This record gives sequence, C-alpha cells and structure tokens, in this order.
Amino acid sequence: MINPFSKLGISDDVVNAVKELGFENPTPIQEQSIPVLLEGSNDFVGLAQTGTGKTAAFGLPLLELIDFKSNKPQALILCPTRELCLQIANDIKNFSKNTPNAHVVAVYGGANIMQQLREIRNGVQIVVATPGRMLDIIGRKAIDFTNVKYVVLDEADEMLNMGFQEDINDILSTTPDDKKTWLFSATMPPEVRRIARNYMENPVELTMGTKNTGNVNIEHEYYIVRARDKYAALKRIVDFNPEIFAVVFCKTKLDTQDVAEHLIKDGYNADSLHGDLSQQQRDKVMQRFRDRNMQLLIATDVAARGIDVNNVTHVINYSLPDEIESYTHRSGRTGRAGKTGISICIVNSKEIGKIRQIERIIGKQFTKAELPTGFDVCEKQLFALVHKVHNVEVNTEQIDQYIPRIMDEFAELTKEDVIKRFASLEFNRFLEYYKNAPDLNASADDRGDRGERGERGARSFNNSDYTRLFINVGSVDDFTRGDLLGFVCNNGKISGKAVGKIDLKGVYSFIEVENATVDSLFTNFKGITFNGREVRIEKTAEGDTRGSSEGGERKRSFGGGGDRRREGGGGFGGGERRSGGGDRRSSGGGSGRREGGNSGGGFRDFSGRNREDRGGNAGGRREGNGGGERRRRS
Ligand code: AMP
Repeated sequence: MINPFSKLGISDDVVNAVKELGFENPTPIQEQSIPVLLEGSNDFVGLAQTGTGKTAAFGLPLLELIDFKSNKPQALILCPTRELCLQIANDIKNFSKNTPNAHVVAVYGGANIMQQLREIRNGVQIVVATPGRMLDIIGRKAIDFTNVKYVVLDEADEMLNMGFQEDINDILSTTPDDKKTWLFSATMPPEVRRIARNYMENPVELTMGTKNTGNVNIEHEYYIVRARDKYAALKRIVDFNPEIFAVVFCKTKLDTQDVAEHLIKDGYNADSLHGDLSQQQRDKVMQRFRDRNMQLLIATDVAARGIDVNNVTHVINYSLPDEIESYTHRSGRTGRAGKTGISICIVNSKEIGKIRQIERIIGKQFTKAELPTGFDVCEKQLFALVHKVHNVEVNTEQIDQYIPRIMDEFAELTKEDVIKRFASLEFNRFLEYYKNAPDLNASADDRGDRGERGERGARSFNNSDYTRLFINVGSVDDFTRGDLLGFVCNNGKISGKAVGKIDLKGVYSFIEVENATVDSLFTNFKGITFNGREVRIEKTAEGDTRGSSEGGERKRSFGGGGDRRREGGGGFGGGERRSGGGDRRSSGGGSGRREGGNSGGGFRDFSGRNREDRGGNAGGRREGNGGGERRRRS
C-alpha cells in the first residue's frame, strides 16, 4: 500500500522519517496544504490552529523544495517565541534525519549568539528564528539571505500581538523580492490581513475549519462563581479530575505567582511560568511540565505562547484574557494532535457577556457547568483510587515473601471488611476535609450587590455573632467588594475571617464583622482617611440594615450620614443566595445520599498530602476514567 505521505508527493527519505515519528496519516491541514506548497510557486495563507500538524504542513514541502547540495540559507521561518522556534527546528531536524546534508539552525534570544553564528557560518539551508535575534544577526552581517526562496511566517497573529511588525518588515526587506511567503495564523485580524496584502501576491488561501474557529477537539465550559471563590473553584476542578494535566492562565505575573504559591502550599504539584523568569528558570519549569513531573502550569499569555506539550487535558482560564482573540491561543494548548481537551473559564456573573463574545469568535458554544460538591469530589477521588488498585501491576516476586504475614494480620476479617477499611483509610480523610465545604456555584444573575459575601454572608446574616456596620465608602470610590474587605481588614487590623457579608453601595456600604472585633475596629479606624476625607464607621440601627437601594442619594458628600442609609427595604437578607442543595448534583454513579450539603475541601491524591480549601468549594468536570463520570450542565 502506498504511504499516504508519498501520495501527497513527499519523497521516501522524508516519508520514512515521519513514519518513525508515528505519523501514519496526514492531518487535514497537511493533506490540504502539502500539494499546494510543493508546487513552490505560490504565496500561501493558512488559517489554522496550533496543534493541527502545521509544522509538517510547511516543513515537509520545504524539505522537497530545498537544494541540499548548496549550504546557503534558502528558507527562513519566523515565529514568535523561543519555545516555538526550538520546537519547529527540532521537528524539521527530525523530518530531515534521513536527508543527506540537511542543516537547520534555531536562532532565538536568550541563548549564546556565538554558537548560533558558528552554526550559520558552517552552512545551513533552513533558518528558524525569532524576529529580535534574527535582526541582531542580520545587523552583524553574519547571514546572507540572497538565496532565500521561501519565508514562513508562523503564528503571524502572535508575532504581531507581540509587537514584531517592524522587525518582520526589516527582516523581509533583506530577502529577495521573488521569494515565496507562506503565512500561518490561528486568527485573521486586520493586521494579519495587511501583511498578506503587503507581502504576497495572489496567495492561495486555505482555511482549516471556519475562520477563527477553535479546534473541534476542544470542549468549552464555564463555571460561574463569586470573585472571591475563584481559587477554591480552581481547586475543586482540579480535585474532581484526578488525572488532570493542565495549563492555568492568569492575567498577570503576580497572579501566576500567587496562584502557584497557594497551590503548592496546598499540596498540589504546580509552578508558574511568566516573563520575569530567566531563560534557565523557564526551561526548568517547562521541562518539569513536559516530563509530567508537574501537574499544573500557571502561566501568563505571553509566557505560554508556543508551548507545545501534548496531552494537556485542560486549559483553565483563571481569568479571562483581555484580548478575546487570545482565548483561541490559550485553548489551543489542549486538544492537540487529534486528542480531545477541555477549556474551562472560571468567571463571575458580570463576565458572562465576555463568554458570549468568545462564543461568537470561536463559533462554538460553551457549556455552563456546575462545580461539584465535596461529596462528588470525594467519590471521584475514591473511585480513582479503586481503579488504580484494580489496575496496579503487582510485583509478585517482591511481595510474595510478605503475603503470609499480611494474611495473618487480616485473618479475622472478611474480604468486605478489608475493603471497607482500606477505603475508609482514604475516604475518612476526604470526608473530613470536604465536610461543610460550601456550594461555590453562583447564579448568572448573581449581581454581587445584593446579599453578598456568599457563604460567609449567608452564614452571618441575622447571626447574632456579627454586627452590621455602616462605612462611608463605596463603589463610587472605585471599591470592589474585595477592595473594601482589604481596606477594612488592613486599617481595622482584623482578619478577613472576622468579616461577614459585605454590601457595597454607592457612596457608602454595609459590612458585617464579628462582635468581638467591633471595638478594636472602631479604635483602629480613628483618624483613618480616604482620599483626604475621614472614614466613618458606625453601628447600624437594626431597622436600617435590611436592604437598601441607592435612591437618588449618589452625591459625593460624606458628611452627614444617617439619612443616606435609610432606603427602602427590599430584602436581600438571610441565606437567600445559598442556591444549591442536592438538586445540583446530577446523579450518576453514586447514590443519592448527600447529607446536609457537605462539600468541597481539597486534597490531591491519596498519598497523604493534605490540602486546605480556604473557605471555598470547588468545581467539577468530567474526565475519562475514575468514578461515575458526570457532567453538570444547566
Ligand atoms: P504542530 O501543529 O505542528 O505543532 O503539531 C502538533 C502535534 O501533532 C505535534 O506533536 C506533532 O508531532 C503531531 N503531528 C503532526 N502531524 C502529525 C501526523 N500526521 N500524525 C500524527 N501526529 C502528527
């Protein structure tokens, strides 16, 4: 039978090399683009996601078109990041391992330039480069591009996002006018279009999937939680997926560090990847992730660009990207090479609009999922253990010598007793850990300005342990509920745990604090000012406290007080936001029991490491094996 790559026109040396890599059939993008690119006479625009086999789609035709008898650079591949540069160079070296005299060099910043210059001097036909270092080398007149016939712009949208437009212009100006340009991009914003217009002549355009459409192998889900429950939600999602191997995206470097530190403290195998790491540190983190010595990689958008790690099971958007288009790149870290993957967004109710925008861009619908209860998590983890026990390879030779004594120990017990005990050993701990864990799911119309502070609020409202206080700062001062919590805790020198419900209003707010902390809070707030005005905290009269509307009372005067907190009653009292209870659990596998709403805590595996779920609950998803698979949708 003729090899499918041979059918596309690839020569035996290269076909044998890709066979060794396990490529049996071309991916759709390879099938479509290889015959076009092999002609060598067209400019080309390929709209394709990462992880679709893009590198071979352009790499294999290049190997057919290059004259390897000459040692002059004939192909230049520009890409946005060092990781991608190394990946592409490596892939092409692998594809050309049987091709005599094929030389590929990777040129990227943060590495010894002398070594790269030496390789160029020794003769290369294919240069894979990041724009900055390439310009540096061109500036040193250390490379001659007069024989370049093909330029590939890979992940063009990313290169433009990263501000490489001018560098690309400068580099391309050193290549011959009659070269062919092949552009690959996951998205096609106007700037990429402009490149296609400026640098190409009647390019052949192929779209793999619809424009901007995400990888079909990726499912998209979102969980709605209150902002303060995000971390707990992340943990619950992780705990519900014992085999998770995920990239977690945060907006800032600080967030990645913060989340990673908390996860590590809580016993998870995590680390952060961001732009402030040295190249060596980045390499180390990436190596651990690639080797699967780390389960959760917490990364910023820029740091994670070009990461090519197969078998990532989940991408978790801990915060949504500012640029909606970045979502495609984030989610493209999973569902690679024909595998399936899940891209999860943890959002608050105000961010649902953004989810809808993303849906429009990727042309796919998100599933609204619900975070599992602690019970669900315990069950999932327990059954993961049961499956592991079932499948474990037994080293008979080693263990046999101990068996008689073990049997002796258990002589009194039935098989059922032994199983119960073994299960309890782990399960008791999980139950202990997840007991009383709250329901973290918030509803879409959870506006956050009614009975807030979630569980804490629900617990504390109407609770005589708490005192409701008026404070003359609010949302007009650009406070969020979290800001106000920080403001009160820092200035009042009380712990966040002593704070109950926070009811953020316009020019003032209500806040509940534990009775025991009220006096010291008042003392510590004496003389505290905000934006030049004195901050006032007062106990509320019982009647004032049940709900209020802003009324017309928005003027920014912070003097007189009392009247301002006296608006109509529409209650947001009590535990009304404890949505939840048993109805949330779409039952599956497990029985219907679930006493009194136990839930979420945290643990990772059965090795004895313990984790804490700070006041949170967490969330769930399905994954392949383990206890009863269940998806929550609403
Ligand atoms: P890429 O989009 O080039 O980064 O490729 C994504 C992953 O798919 C890489 O790990 C490749 O090794 C793999 N891959 C590419 N083409 C094929 C193929 N035809 N068959 C199997 N795996 C492939």
